[in-house]
Amino acid sequence: MNDGGLMFPKKAWKKKRKRHKKSMLHEKDGTCYLCMKLNHDYRIHPAIQEHHIYGGPLRGISEAEGFKVYLCPSHHVDGAKAVHNNQKNMRLLQEDCQRAYERTHTRQQFIKLMGRNYLEE
Ligand SMILES: [Zn+2]
Ligand SMILES: [Zn+2]
Repeated sequence: MNDGGLMFPKKAWKKKRKRHKKSMLHEKDGTCYLCMKLNHDYRIHPAIQEHHIYGGPLRGISEAEGFKVYLCPSHHVDGAKAVHNNQKNMRLLQEDCQRAYERTHTRQQFIKLMGRNYLEE
């Protein structure tokens, strides 16, 4: 036998290279963060969408830090309650996320990372 390649199988370490963090606020289990928070509705949705809490130029940081939640379509992009149409709900997520971050970091660290403070404006 001279099949040395089999002795060193490719390992899973390759998978971990990208900086994708799990949401720090919400388990990806089919529930909608806002259905739960606003309506106490813990139903599992057939289709759930990932939402980056701080968008635009901060989207990359949101991805790397896990600043994201899972939303049903009507809380994400469809209709008046959707965060992309509703500044109040958008802001609610931004405030919740900053609070969650500050459980393990200081406010200064948050401001340094994001460039602003969502809790006192
Ligand atoms: Zn929802
Ligand atoms: Zn979104």
